Amino acid sequence: MNRAVLQHLGIELPLFPTTTVGSLPKPPDLVAARARFARGGMSQRELDEVAEEAVLFWLQRQEELGLDVLVDGEMYRGDMVAYFADQLDGMELGGLVRAYGNRYYHKPVIRGAVRWEQPMTVGWWRFAQSHTQKPVKAILTGPYTMMDWSFNEYYPDRRVACLALAHEMRKEVQALAAAGAKIVQIDEPALSVRPDELPTAIEATRIVTEGLAVYTITHACYGAFEHIYPGMLNLPTHNLDLAISQSAIDWIGLMRSAPFTKDLSVGVLDVHTYTVESVHAVRERIERAMQLVPREALWVTPDCGLKTRTIEEAIEKLGNMVTATRQVRDSAVRSAQ
Ligand SMILES: [Zn+2]
Repeated sequence: MNRAVLQHLGIELPLFPTTTVGSLPKPPDLVAARARFARGGMSQRELDEVAEEAVLFWLQRQEELGLDVLVDGEMYRGDMVAYFADQLDGMELGGLVRAYGNRYYHKPVIRGAVRWEQPMTVGWWRFAQSHTQKPVKAILTGPYTMMDWSFNEYYPDRRVACLALAHEMRKEVQALAAAGAKIVQIDEPALSVRPDELPTAIEATRIVTEGLAVYTITHACYGAFEHIYPGMLNLPTHNLDLAISQSAIDWIGLMRSAPFTKDLSVGVLDVHTYTVESVHAVRERIERAMQLVPREALWVTPDCGLKTRTIEEAIEKLGNMVTATRQVRDSAVRSAQ
């Protein structure tokens, strides 16, 4: 349980803090502006202004919904790896490849020594935090996923490439912490892809986070976690964010043999369906997760980023998530009295 870490950072959160994983749907005018920018019909500054409006739009929606830890919604990002690869020296965007689902993206290529040149997310984090009293979570893509989703033409092997990326991504976390970010999420969707490489992912995460005064979350979303449990508990972050509520894995059985030792952000919304989960259904998912960790250790989130949903779907889903969480919170507080 890491409530003490948060308190030490000056962050007071209610029981079962609610947050989102990161990406939110882009408003239509931003989608149009990004297309225009790609065709050369708009300057970076003009595009950023449209993106800033979109960040403000989502901050306001998140406040209205009553979420506890806010995000900027990643309005300025396309792909989660390409966004960083594009800005790191030594990496560039390669040809189009097909990704998860029916999406194409430019797979990054490591062509030389990777080097962090300047903050990549700090300006956006600062912009968002300056417009709300609630804590804004900073989010970056982790070195293991950066490595796994890129072609490596420079480093001798995957581990060396991953650790080199870790040393550079640490500079981004340092810059975020210096700017005042207290909660930092490291996205590692590739975490469970190769169970034999889990030690590399852990080593890389340690390089990124060690000794920094921030509360850290690893977002791993979908994967074959049964193959990396309990080893994944050695990730040196305070909170593991897992999409476990729809997964077929017997988490209760797994955790009986090896108790979960971290804060757990439980995914309770399926981001791949437009169906809006009922308050009752979300409540059941939260209550199931309460069997896994002490209640002070449980956070509530969607399974993954909501960027593929419409704005209306995302708002409705999150609304039910917050309502369900409040009901569970109220009854937990009542039963403790
Ligand atoms: Zn995810």
